[in-house]
Amino acid sequence: MALESFYPRRKTSVCRMGPVAMGGNNPILVQSMITEETRNVDACVEQIIALRQAGCELVRVTTPSLNDARLMEEIRAKVSERYGYVPLTADVHHQGTDIAVEAAKHVDEVRINPGLFVFKRHGTRAGEVEADEAIDLRGRQEDASVDQLRAELAYDPSEWQEELDAIEESFVPVIEACKKYDRAMRVGVNHGSLSERILVTYGDSPDGMVESALEYLQLCEKHGYTNLNISLKASRVPIMIAANRRMVARMDEVGMAYPLHLGVTEAGDGTYARIKSTAGIATLLMEGIGDTIRVSLSEDPIAEIPVCYDILQACGLRKTKVEYIACPSCGRTKFNLPTVLHQVREATRHLVGLDIAVMGCIVNGPGEMADADYGYVGAAGGKITLYRKREVVKNGIPQENGVSELIALLKADGLWVEPDVQRSEVKPLLVLN
Ligand code: SF4
Repeated sequence: MALESFYPRRKTSVCRMGPVAMGGNNPILVQSMITEETRNVDACVEQIIALRQAGCELVRVTTPSLNDARLMEEIRAKVSERYGYVPLTADVHHQGTDIAVEAAKHVDEVRINPGLFVFKRHGTRAGEVEADEAIDLRGRQEDASVDQLRAELAYDPSEWQEELDAIEESFVPVIEACKKYDRAMRVGVNHGSLSERILVTYGDSPDGMVESALEYLQLCEKHGYTNLNISLKASRVPIMIAANRRMVARMDEVGMAYPLHLGVTEAGDGTYARIKSTAGIATLLMEGIGDTIRVSLSEDPIAEIPVCYDILQACGLRKTKVEYIACPSCGRTKFNLPTVLHQVREATRHLVGLDIAVMGCIVNGPGEMADADYGYVGAAGGKITLYRKREVVKNGIPQENGVSELIALLKADGLWVEPDVQRSEVKPLLVLN
């Protein structure tokens, strides 16, 4: 069953990053970011290769200074020499023109942060309010004085245009460099680092995030550059979801269709971080929104990759392992379900592409596993019944022979390969959908 048909993906333009692409009909791309300092070139190279080997398809490296951006040349060369080509993104934040222009020579994508790209404090204008006081708007959303403060700080149209002109002047060299070297750009807005002008005008809000991104996108289009994608990240799931939904609505209004990069930033670690990331990312994916994802964990970034793939597989968007459908078991269960599920998984986990159901009883089991390719179902008298789709293939199997009979069935159907066969060899044989 083509699960995507239940929630068609939003139609987006294609953004190309070297040999990979996101948006359009491309699979949803998995990306992450290394944690090594860029000046530790060899350590960066090692982490990039490790992430790629774990399945990461686009690896981001921070470039806080011009020297870091220059080092990307050496990092790129060493990665290519030791491993092969790995698509790289340079992460650019404060006062980013020279850094981004340099990075564009060496990487596939440059990420700029509109909130920080031209860092300008407005609060000292006319000497009324100090900058720190203006910034303090963020922490005082519920305070009645905020409206008053915002009114005092409000930009008049000429000042607004003046700042936009300053942004354009700083930004055009980056656009031109991306065009010249055929690089992609991510316009990456963070809820926690909106510019003061946006903060004063729109508040600390999803609207502010969206308008901040739109300004940069419009400048790109004005200068004939469209190899773009967008991220709108927040550490609060409802804000991240609202910002992405709003971005889609605003892009529809202005005739843009750029791919979206989804992520919940500063999610933390452990189970809660994974659930929090999934809540934000999967909610949007199930609405057809999202073309690339990153799960941000305060752990080794390699731990992010399986979570990304699990989210995509659970949403029916990419298949990277066997999908096991197993009931929770109850008083009707005819065998020790966790043990049997473990045995079935151990025997078949390499058969990437298959859906295999393990159900405790015949009462509800066959109906509830209806979409699985194969079913392993408990029956009366301690026996097992094997299904192919909805069809009973064999019943009355003693429990101790259940797994070997399942393997025999897969062999008979031409779907079995030995576990030591590499996934790349298995995949084409077993993708059934
Ligand atoms: S499939 Fe059968 S054993 Fe499993 S939870 Fe449902 S009723 Fe219980």
